[in-house]
Amino acid sequence: MSDMFRYADELGPSKIIHIYEPSLGLKAVVIVDNVAAGPAIGGMRMAPDVSVEECFRLARAMTLKNAAANLRHGGAKSVIAADPAMPPDHKERLIRAFATALRDIKDYIPGPDMGTNEQAMAWVYDETGRAVGLPRVLGGIPLDEIGATGFGVAIAAEAAQEFANINLKGARVAVQGFGAVGQHAATFLAERGAMLVAASDARGMIHCKDGLSVAELKRHKAEGGSLMDYGRGSSMGRDEIIGIDCDVWIPAARPDAIRKDNVGQLKAKLILQGANIPATLEAEMILHERGIISVPDFIANAGGVVCAAVEYRGGSEATAFEQIEEKIRHNTRECLLEANAKNVTPRQAASQIAKRRVQAAMKLRRWH
Ligand code: NAD
Repeated sequence: MSDMFRYADELGPSKIIHIYEPSLGLKAVVIVDNVAAGPAIGGMRMAPDVSVEECFRLARAMTLKNAAANLRHGGAKSVIAADPAMPPDHKERLIRAFATALRDIKDYIPGPDMGTNEQAMAWVYDETGRAVGLPRVLGGIPLDEIGATGFGVAIAAEAAQEFANINLKGARVAVQGFGAVGQHAATFLAERGAMLVAASDARGMIHCKDGLSVAELKRHKAEGGSLMDYGRGSSMGRDEIIGIDCDVWIPAARPDAIRKDNVGQLKAKLILQGANIPATLEAEMILHERGIISVPDFIANAGGVVCAAVEYRGGSEATAFEQIEEKIRHNTRECLLEANAKNVTPRQAASQIAKRRVQAAMKLRRWH
């Protein structure tokens, strides 16, 4: 295989497109990885240091996430090499110019990602007639406001509890990254009888073994407070959350939070990956060997993309919650059963399930 096709394998990518407009300083890449199941949904990321390699990995992750969620969508991603903090009028011009170039790439439906938001998606929709994660006024379902991903994480917990030998009622939960995903996951888990004992953000961690009020903590953060000045419980260093005594540990912040050098400190029996790639493959293998269940990101955090797929078909918020519940409950169970049966990590089992689905869909296409 020549270097030009270095990313090519049995699944894709089907298109790699470079977009360059020197007069605007627009430099972007679109990768449509696989569209066997339907037009690809994937985020549009704006960051100064993006690369083709990153775009390919993210596009492939979307192929697997959408297939694992049994959506009628393939995977894609686009990246714009620019600083998202640029003046708003320039950002609008750049995104509109990029969207114009996407007009004929009809098998790609962009969604918001790092550096873009629902307003950016409104510009893309205006230029192309295709986008998800739109403002409410255009039929969008605001997934961070309703907590689509956090809700899915709580459903994954319900389905995984028997595999981890815990009962969610009374289970002690620690959340790393008390942001959109972390706060909603804590809320939906508290509704199911679990107790938040620790939460961290970029600045530090708050811990109370007798339980923290999720609602009060959220209010405190919304009013501009920090977890460190919450006033109840004890504040500790941000990274100490890894060793907190708890039953359920939720990474909902940065990649590679659980690594070979710190995985030994985890005391939980169940890990729910709210963040993307929050554990290294080596650390996941160690968790597996210790009998700790770790529900992989593309199963546990699929609530957002399921919500986007419902939005794309003009569905309601209630339908989004129904579909998230049905899909994540089923997929978590299927993934953990297959992991047990084959003695592989849940990520390996989920990847195999997702790949089988993509390949089955590919068999139904003309060129097979
Ligand atoms: P967010 O910005 O709302 O929240 C992130 C939180 O993590 C913030 O409170 C921040 O202070 C905290 N944080 C940053 N670095 C930290 C660190 N080192 N230790 C502890 N806390 C830290 O972001 P979000 O939307 O909640 O996304 C969180 C993760 O979930 C990301 O990996 C994102 O890609 C992934 N994700 C999000 C969605 C979604 O629907 N928002 C869907 C799928 C995956």
